[in-house]
Amino acid sequence: SSLPTIGLIPGDGIGHEVIPAARRILETVLPGIPLVDLDAGFATFERTGKALPPSTVQVLRDQCQGALFGAVSSPIHKVAGYSSPIVQLRKELDLYANVRPVVNKKAFNASGEQVGCDLVIVRENTECLYVKQERLETDANGESIAFATRQISQRASRRITETALRLAQQRAASRSSGTSLLTVVHKSNVLSVTDGLFRETARAVFAAAGSPSAVKIEDQLVDSMVYRLFRAPDSVDVVVAPNLYGDILSDAAAALAGSLGLVPSANVGPSFVMGEPVHGSAPDIAGKGVANPVAAIRSAGMLLAHLGYADEAQRIDRAVEEVMTRGIATPDVPGGRASTNDVTSAVVAALQA
Ligand code: NAD
Ligand code: MN
Repeated sequence: SSLPTIGLIPGDGIGHEVIPAARRILETVLPGIPLVDLDAGFATFERTGKALPPSTVQVLRDQCQGALFGAVSSPIHKVAGYSSPIVQLRKELDLYANVRPVVNKKAFNASGEQVGCDLVIVRENTECLYVKQERLETDANGESIAFATRQISQRASRRITETALRLAQQRAASRSSGTSLLTVVHKSNVLSVTDGLFRETARAVFAAAGSPSAVKIEDQLVDSMVYRLFRAPDSVDVVVAPNLYGDILSDAAAALAGSLGLVPSANVGPSFVMGEPVHGSAPDIAGKGVANPVAAIRSAGMLLAHLGYADEAQRIDRAVEEVMTRGIATPDVPGGRASTNDVTSAVVAALQA
């Protein structure tokens, strides 16, 4: 067999606690899997002058099929020469889709009923306002006025919708109902050119796929989409959105999960995939041994699923579910009193049972 080589990039803070936890899980489900330790982050920047060393990118490109990224600390004030390695990695490796599932049987709706949620946000990762073309001008009164360019291309809109549609079809196939719902998020009542192009391209992708009857497609304005996420989280299934809307929606959706420490994501490109817990480096708890490893472990599961190891990914999900059901959790989860190591060992034990 030829197991995929995975780059492990802990980054800063609790990245150094949750990535070793995820490593134990990878080594348990795929014994002998080649893992390479790689540097990036603020500490790396302070040591070497580069937040993302070229050697890290080169090893990822030349030797790895996938990676698992922890979190990095970003300075609040602008530091000369520093730019976020995660944003750079998404660009360098063309990781155009950010896929963020949020599953929580205990999620509440706005009426206080425990309705649960099982949804996934598919965020375009390469354009929109993140092309970072800002400029400062002076208005007629001599005051500053700032502009930003928002780029929405047919190509990026098409490939992100194709990714979301594939996911919607997989979810439909795995359900007894045989159906799923794909929601296209936009604001084309105001931005008819940019968001209009996104929405029309999404519709065209659906039509080009033969309008599969298993998937119902709808669209929703981004502001009312946020409302709906909290009002009726159980009415949401697969959501596809341009970069900025997707960024905001996916953090909002993470709130439904109960703790940031539970929410995984995957950055997906044509030839590379990078798992990444949604949380940051959590300096307030770093080094205390209480970081929740579940988001990183679930991200490892998503990574394996995207690399074709669906059974292993499912085993990881089930083991995590079992451990959480038994109430073994870190303190960020209500009632949790376990350490990072306790939770990780419990998941390893559940995998070996
Ligand atoms: P954060 O996600 O690091 O922490 C927010 C809160 O959630 C904190 O109270 C933290 O203790 C808690 N938390 C987060 N993950 C947890 C886990 N696994 N287990 C238990 N508790 C957890 O966000 P922040 O405090 O806004 O940012 C801290 C640093 O992280 C900043 O430097 C920021 O730039 C960076 N950050 C990085 C990423 C990334 O690398 N993708 C994402 C967000 C923030
Ligand atoms: Mn964000």
